[in-house]
Order: sequence, then C-alpha cells, then structure tokens
Amino acid sequence: MNATGVVMTAAIKNVRRQVRKRNWLKQLRRQERAKIRSQKTAKIQKVGKQMGKVIVIGAGASGMMAAAAASGNNEVLVLEQLPEAGKKILATGNGKCNFTNTNVAESDFHGNSDFAMKVYNRFNNRDTIAFFEKAGIKCRVREGMCYPYSFQAKAVRDALTALLYRKAVTIEYERKVTSVAVKDNGFNVMCGNESYSCDKLIVATGGKAVKSLGSTGFGYDIAKSFGHKIIKVKPGLTRLYIKENIKELKGVRCIASVSANGIDIETGEIIFLEDSVSGIPVMQLSSLFEGRKLYIDFFPDMRKEELKNELLRRTQEISVKTHRILIGLLNEKLAAYIAKDMKLADAAKLAGMLKSFELEVTGTGDFEDCQICTGGVDVSEIYPETMESKLHRGLYFAGEIVDVDGRCGGYNLQWAWSSGYVAGKSS
Ligand SMILES: Cc1cc2nc3c(=O)[nH]c(=O)nc-3n(C[C@H](O)[C@H](O)[C@H](O)COP(=O)(O)OP(=O)(O)OC[C@H]3O[C@@H](n4cnc5c(N)ncnc54)[C@H](O)[C@@H]3O)c2cc1C
Repeated sequence: MNATGVVMTAAIKNVRRQVRKRNWLKQLRRQERAKIRSQKTAKIQKVGKQMGKVIVIGAGASGMMAAAAASGNNEVLVLEQLPEAGKKILATGNGKCNFTNTNVAESDFHGNSDFAMKVYNRFNNRDTIAFFEKAGIKCRVREGMCYPYSFQAKAVRDALTALLYRKAVTIEYERKVTSVAVKDNGFNVMCGNESYSCDKLIVATGGKAVKSLGSTGFGYDIAKSFGHKIIKVKPGLTRLYIKENIKELKGVRCIASVSANGIDIETGEIIFLEDSVSGIPVMQLSSLFEGRKLYIDFFPDMRKEELKNELLRRTQEISVKTHRILIGLLNEKLAAYIAKDMKLADAAKLAGMLKSFELEVTGTGDFEDCQICTGGVDVSEIYPETMESKLHRGLYFAGEIVDVDGRCGGYNLQWAWSSGYVAGKSS
C-alpha cells in the first residue's frame, strides 16, 4: 500500500470512529430521555395516586384548620355561604378571640369528653399555640386564656385566610351548599345549580348558635342524609331566665358562686339582667342545666358560720336594719332586694340566704343568644383517630357540628382546631 492508501485507510477509520461515537452519544441521549420520561411518568403516577380532591363545607374555625391540614396531599376547595370567612371568629372573646387555654383537662369538655380528649391529644393546646405563632399570631395569656397579642380576633381570622392562600387552598365565597350526593367513589356537592365533585368531603358547617354568623344547622341535614344520628341540639353557654321579678337588679354585677343542683359550682362575675342572670359562671352552668333552681352564694370565700358572726357583729355595732348591715359587703341594690322581707336583722337566716340564694329558672337563652350549641352528630358514629364517619367512607366532620362542647375559656375553639386538624390530616 502506498502512502495515499495509508492516509485513506486512516481517514476511513477516523470517520467510522466518529460515526460510532455519534451513534453511541445518540444512544446515550435516547437512554437518558427514556430515563427522564419514565421518572416523570413515575412521578405523575405517584402524585396521581396521592393527590385527591377535598371539599370542605364552611370556612369557619374548624373548616379553615381542616383545609390547612388537608392541603399538603390534596387539592382543597372550601365552600363558604357568607361573603367572608370566619365571621364567628370575629365575635369570639368579645372581639379578642380566646383561641385556646394553657390548661386543658377532660372536665373542660362536656358529655363526650372521652371522645373529645382522644381527638384533642392529636392536636393539643401547645400544637395550637405553635401553629398560630407560625402563622403570625403571637400568644398573650391571661389567667390561662390565650388571645392574639394584639387582642384582635380579626388577626386570627386573617392569619388563617392568608395561610390558606399560601397553601394554594381555594375559598369560594357566597357558595351555599344545598345538597350532597354520593358519586362514584366520591361526592357531588351542589350549590344551587352549580355542582362540585370531590373524593373526600369535610363537613364543618358549625351548629345552630347565632344564624347571622352562619350557623343555620344545615350540616345536620347532610349528616342525617348519610344515616347519622343527631343528638338533640340545644343552646349552650347562655343566660338563664328567672321567674322572680328581678327588674330592680338590672345591671348589678358581683362575684359569686352559682350551682344548679349543689354539684356544679362555678365562681366568677355574675350579671343581673332585667329578667335573667348571665356572666361566665351562669353560662358555664347553662350547658348542663337540668334542675329548675339556681342557687347563688354571694360570699364564696366565707363559711356560713363566719358570715353569721360578721353579720351579728354588724347588727350590734352598725344597725338593726337588715339591708344596712350589708353595706360595704354586698351591692346596695342586691342588699335591698334580698333583705326586703326581713324587718329586723336575723343574722343566721340572712347568712343562710346569702350563702344559698334561690332563684327559679324558667328557661335558657335561645339559639340567637348563646355562644355554642350542645348536641350534634353522635360521636359513636365517628372515628376519633380520623374524624371520619363510620357510616360512609370519605365523609368527615369537624367542629361544633359534632356532639362535643366545651366550657368558656377557649375550649370550644380548641375543639374546632383539634377536630379540624385531625379531619384535614386524615382526608
Ligand atoms: C359571641 C360568641 C363568642 C364566642 N367566644 C368564644 C371564645 O372566646 N372562645 C372559644 O373557644 N369559643 C368561643 N365561641 C364559640 C366558637 O366561636 C365556636 O365554637 C366555633 O367558632 C365553632 O367553629 P366551627 O368551625 O365548628 O363553626 P363556625 O365557626 O360556625 O363555622 C361554620 C361555617 O360554615 C358556614 N356554613 C354553614 N352552612 C353552610 C352551607 N350550607 N354552605 C356553605 N357554608 C356553610 C358558615 O357560614 C360558617 O362560616 C364563641 C361563640 C360566639 C357566638
């Protein structure tokens, strides 16, 4: 072979090498593209498997918490009948929002306290405080009751809506849910003529306490349509109407202990209204009220004997006119009212009356005049671990719609946060 032939052979070899290299690179790229494609498919399949569509009915305390908790793994839509979210939150704690309490015990929940504690232990008061701190609400504590540092309930509502926005949760306002039906493996939710479908449904419509704040009791109809039993719904945390004419006491406030049947004793400031008695201790009692008599102890920090001796001393040193010996001890109007039928001071009788002043209760405030309602969806038909219905898979309940209620002091909102979180996380 001559020199030209050698050069030709080398050139051909070179071309072949380059072709092989190009093919090899092409193959590499093909393999790489196939790998990426299969990774993408796997991801889509994985996401498709996990991502579900959740609808929450009601943008109240429990509904917004449920939506926040559900948002990680789901596409979440909240349907709210009012033009704004959390209208009731704005009214809580006299506009300050007592959103939880540093002390929570089983006795702070009524009736189904055992069920309530199982749910509460999955999202407790410390979780609530940490959740709100993260959402921008610094906690201020007053006698165990937790408020936003600014003492503005609006801050709590706004922090929740802002959090839902960041979590890509959609809230549709002025969407009143009118019916719910089962569709395939999920639900069809109707708002008049508009229809929404979802895999999981969280009913967080609240109870019947204060219609103007969104509580119409509609959620009970949804629950009933799925076969759920509703425990009789009654107004809770409300005033007690009194048979006696107490008009002259209107506006009087005093510290006292109240009891309904000698067992449920609550102490704090009570308020006399024209025909009723209110204040936190009376409201606490109203949720449990079964007896017909209300007993007021105007001197909870004095034993009866001690009070009798003090009244005797006053009779001797100050006056024999019954109501006068009470000056400085009891509100003047109350003293005159209690002592009106007693001509001369009878220390023993008076001490007895002041330690156990009896009033006959004719009824409680109605649904427009209460903070919560008692009763609701029977807890024996709900799993406390998930808040899912035992009667229908994929259906969850949260908040006041459930037959759980708490004392004044942040326990009802805590129930809303705990049950909302558990329902949302499990959906
Ligand atoms: C005056 C007042 C003061 C209170 N203060 C305190 C307090 O300081 N601390 C405390 O712990 N608790 C307090 N409570 C109680 C507490 O506010 C409630 O227990 C709690 O808000 C219940 O939350 P929820 O999510 O279950 O219901 P809600 O807050 O009532 O929310 C239910 C939502 O569902 C919506 N909805 C209802 N039906 C439909 C439908 N068909 N379609 C679409 N949307 C619907 C409603 O419009 C509403 O927004 C107070 C209550 C009142 C009335």
